[in-house]
Amino acid sequence: MRIRPHHLLCMGNYIGKGYSREFEINMSRVIAELKNRSVLTPVEGADDICAACPFDHHGVCETEEKVRRYDREAADRLGLVYGAEYEYEELARRVADEIYMTGDLTSICGDCEWHSLCLDVIKNNRKNQ
Ligand code: SF4
Repeated sequence: MRIRPHHLLCMGNYIGKGYSREFEINMSRVIAELKNRSVLTPVEGADDICAACPFDHHGVCETEEKVRRYDREAADRLGLVYGAEYEYEELARRVADEIYMTGDLTSICGDCEWHSLCLDVIKNNRKNQ
């Protein structure tokens, strides 16, 4: 599975809400497959989630500059190497411990339209731990 780095942060907080029905179906499928098969490769630019997004225009995001910034930040924090292979569950755990729980999410993608929803999900998950 090809995944751009910042989508690791989106996937951990995904609760079935997305940009379109097609996007939601694809996002759910990608997450289910990753949980099952468990290996992903970080890629630069559009990935297997962007493939069903209404804002993807032939591999270029409508907010390309912003999402590239998120990708750079996420890749730096997690020390990801583009083209390498990673266990999804291990990365998901690191995202939770090193980004959600430290409060670092806001400095990476605080200007994302979904950010407040993600913070609510993190808060609820903490309460239920
Ligand atoms: S095209 Fe842009 S908005 Fe759509 S999933 Fe990819 S990065 Fe997110």
